[in-house]
Amino acid sequence: MRQTLIFDADDTLWENNVVFERVIDDYLDWLAHPTLDRAELRAILDDIERANAAVHGYGTKVFLRSLHECVARLRQRPATEQEGRQILELADQLINHRIELIPGVADTLGDLAARHELLLLTKGDQEEQQRKIDASGLDHHFSHVHIVREKHAGTYLELVEEHSLRPAHAWMIGNSPKSDIVPARQAGLNAVFIPNESTWVLEHDVVDPADDRVLHLSRFPELLSHF
Ligand SMILES: [Mg+2]
Repeated sequence: MRQTLIFDADDTLWENNVVFERVIDDYLDWLAHPTLDRAELRAILDDIERANAAVHGYGTKVFLRSLHECVARLRQRPATEQEGRQILELADQLINHRIELIPGVADTLGDLAARHELLLLTKGDQEEQQRKIDASGLDHHFSHVHIVREKHAGTYLELVEEHSLRPAHAWMIGNSPKSDIVPARQAGLNAVFIPNESTWVLEHDVVDPADDRVLHLSRFPELLSHF
């Protein structure tokens, strides 16, 4: 039976968090704080990121803001122009958006699109997410692409309404318990949880292991055995 498959993008179709992690590693080295160790510095940065995500959303621009604020908090003065330039150099990988597809994604989507309706639902900065989608070459597999600020249960209910989805035949597929699995289930959709080894700490949450409407897969191409 034809199903509606709704895909997350970052860390489900292509690597994303691991790129941020590489930049953060270099950034912590560059900070070279005299008294705080890496874990302590990371905890400060995580706090700043959490606060900024709530107010400003997600994406590279907000991340750069967090890197600046972390310098300011540690040095108790704003980042200098030179430090600003160094931060931009550290984040070069992110600013230039080189897309690294997760293995098997392109072929699997091609197969699935022949049998099912495919939607894309990603959160973040509108322009940045659109640029990544364009660069991925995957756009043509999806009948609709939605870029939203945040993924709450309400976001999924709106999607159900807009596309007249039958929740029993619709599946949210993603790596994030907090943004993909938990709110989709709250909205009555089924879900497919495909964890990524690198998932941002702010995306962690608990997936109920007894919930039989959540399919747990370890690799993207395994979708072909179920749909
Ligand atoms: Mg994701």
